[in-house]
Amino acid sequence: MITASPLPAQQPRTWQRLWREAIVDPRELLELLDLGHLAGTLLPARDSGFSLRVPRGFAARMRRGDAHDPLLLQVLPQAAESLEVAGFARDAVGDMAARVADGVLHKYAGRALLIATGSCAVNCRYCFRRHFPYAEETAAANRWREAIGYIRADASIEEVILSGGDPLSLATAKLVELTDALAAIPHIRRLRIHTRLPIVLPERVDGELLAWLRRLPWPAAIVLHANHANEIDASVADACARLRAAGSSLLNQSVLLRRINDNVQTLADLSARLFSTGVLPYYLHQLDRVAGTAHFAVDDKRAGQLIAQLRGRLSGYLVPRLVREIAGEPAKTPL
Ligand SMILES: *Cc1c(COP(=O)(O)O)cnc(C)c1O
Ligand code: SF4
Repeated sequence: MITASPLPAQQPRTWQRLWREAIVDPRELLELLDLGHLAGTLLPARDSGFSLRVPRGFAARMRRGDAHDPLLLQVLPQAAESLEVAGFARDAVGDMAARVADGVLHKYAGRALLIATGSCAVNCRYCFRRHFPYAEETAAANRWREAIGYIRADASIEEVILSGGDPLSLATAKLVELTDALAAIPHIRRLRIHTRLPIVLPERVDGELLAWLRRLPWPAAIVLHANHANEIDASVADACARLRAAGSSLLNQSVLLRRINDNVQTLADLSARLFSTGVLPYYLHQLDRVAGTAHFAVDDKRAGQLIAQLRGRLSGYLVPRLVREIAGEPAKTPL
């Protein structure tokens, strides 16, 4: 008798499995999009300590045959990244100086940001994470004790921000462990979660995650990260609806990116799509000036014009706050 071993295709498509199946070869991504002829414009693999990573479901939202697709340009390692440009440095936002304990950044009053993990489901080319030594800064590797001790000792901290990396890349059991420890601290009033996972891998919003959210002892704000309306398809809208049904408030932060979302129609479409998904626009960030990202930069004058044009067209609550992070400032700086 032959006992059939289960075929990989019959395993449930859990988010962990979809994570492992992400595209990591830039040539494969180009081939999938009928853009194989662009292989010569890629960043040589040896120049990148920050490889391509994109979940297949996110890649499926890219337009085939379009070299300027706004989702593709966010993830494709391009030769332009190796240009050295004055003013674009490795630790552009002063994170190293703000580190107060293992995995905790305490820059702003009342809020402590916990680097819950260094992992992300997607590697965004414009991200400061490409240089930040998160491998060492991660509070996740059973080193939460120091981080939690710091938060417990400072009664001025009312809000804990789970960030990273992407905190939802942790197993839900780890998140439960973390918030159980935080729940014992009486001065915490709010939890915030900074995550791109419901956008790039909406399958992450599974029953276990929703059960965790429902059981939290504080109101939770989830700050998503989408830069273009095309990122938000039906699967993302569905994930957002479930997050809201679990009691979370949903906000979005975007980064202003040249050739990706630096025009008023694109930004207006993004705000409209977010709102119809139950998400309010929160921040539009001026790019952190980190090495390898200069080709994404939009100058402040143009950024200000875009926001003024948006204000002229949209309801006030659909206009994100244009901000820049300046090292040493007590809050994000409005522009
Ligand atoms: C952005 C950020 C926050 C949150 O700032 P808000 O203006 O409240 O969104 C908190 N801590 C750090 C270190 C940050 O970078
Ligand atoms: S998901 Fe966020 S933290 Fe991760 S690479 Fe993208 S921008 Fe950076």
